[in-house]
Amino acid sequence: MKIAIPKEIVPNERRVSVVPETAARLVKSGLAVRVEAGAGVGANFSDQAYKNTGTTVVSDPLALYDEADVVLKVQKPVMNTALGNHEVELLREGTVLISFLQPMLNPDLVQMLAQRKITAFSMDAIPRTTRAQSMDALSSQSTVAGYKAVLLAANAAKKLFPMLTTAAGTITPAKVFILGAGVAGLQAIATAKRLGAIVQAFDVRPAVKQEVESLGAKFVGLTMQEAADKSGYAKELSEEQNRKNRELIAQYAKDADIVITTALVPGKKAPVLITKEMIHQMKTGAVIVDLAAEQGGNCEATKAGQEIADNGVTVLGPVNLPSMMSCHASQMYSKNITTLLQLMVKDGKLNLDFNDEIIKGCCITHEGKIL
Ligand code: NAD
Repeated sequence: MKIAIPKEIVPNERRVSVVPETAARLVKSGLAVRVEAGAGVGANFSDQAYKNTGTTVVSDPLALYDEADVVLKVQKPVMNTALGNHEVELLREGTVLISFLQPMLNPDLVQMLAQRKITAFSMDAIPRTTRAQSMDALSSQSTVAGYKAVLLAANAAKKLFPMLTTAAGTITPAKVFILGAGVAGLQAIATAKRLGAIVQAFDVRPAVKQEVESLGAKFVGLTMQEAADKSGYAKELSEEQNRKNRELIAQYAKDADIVITTALVPGKKAPVLITKEMIHQMKTGAVIVDLAAEQGGNCEATKAGQEIADNGVTVLGPVNLPSMMSCHASQMYSKNITTLLQLMVKDGKLNLDFNDEIIKGCCITHEGKIL
């Protein structure tokens, strides 16, 4: 069975779906692994590193796609302007594709995949269960984003994070306020603590308080039993509940040097937690990094992919932070995607068990049908 690892063609995407270390494991298990020349370069992995594992390096993307039984990607298929073809058109009928697809946001792509009779699995639809943890790419990539968000904030701030006692006087530690303490938020807390900041965090799910405190941060949320569903995930709040939250957030935001927002309710537009009015009460020089920029933003002033200045406050709305940390983001994604692949392979052959909750949960199209 031939496994293809194409080069990602979305602008600024530096990750690769499978790194050499994991490719070596696939080769050892009897699979023919083929990588497009240069696919790993953006993440520090040379063609030679793949060759050393027994992976074949293929220069022609058309040949790579044409001979593949399974294609492993990071980004959803897009138009390849260099080849004049959509990546879906490069896939042979019946090929298995695994990548981020965001099917609810991309109905046209899902239609194309179904028409082309591709068996497509979406990495963002992996059930967030204990058994699927090692395949949970949303979590692994959010971990990277939470870390990088703090570094971007530290870079944009004109202040040091740690307390310093020097001959030139004492520097007080920066105050970092994190909104949303899920995967990205917890990693942001840990990173800001390591840099020496005083960290406060806000969330609405009751389970979060203990996790925040275990990282040495102060929890300042209004935990609400009704904020989580049966499986523990955040639910959308009423406008009245959001208003109460904003009142509390405003008290802490005005003293913060850095605010990092990561609040998300699965499948919904991001809740607005920082209004323009709140920005106008913040300290001059404060920095907001809004990780929810692509979901509409947790901050009213955010513009996805841009840095804006409002009343002396800098608001960053970075997109695709994992690509900025492409080496380790790829390493983790590679583990996620190949663990899922291993669930689909038996004795070197494809063996799709649609009774398996993970396979069923993340399969988007199969045999021409949209699942
Ligand atoms: P997660 O589901 O693990 O965490 C989200 C947290 O937000 C949860 O703890 C939830 O309780 C909390 N929340 C929901 N509603 C809230 C509210 N009204 N007030 C306060 N907290 C609330 O999600 P995650 O994986 O940590 O991702 C967080 C965000 O970061 C998402 O928007 C995600 O898309 C984004 N993200 C961005 C990038 C990037 O490059 N910009 C990369 C990865 C993730």
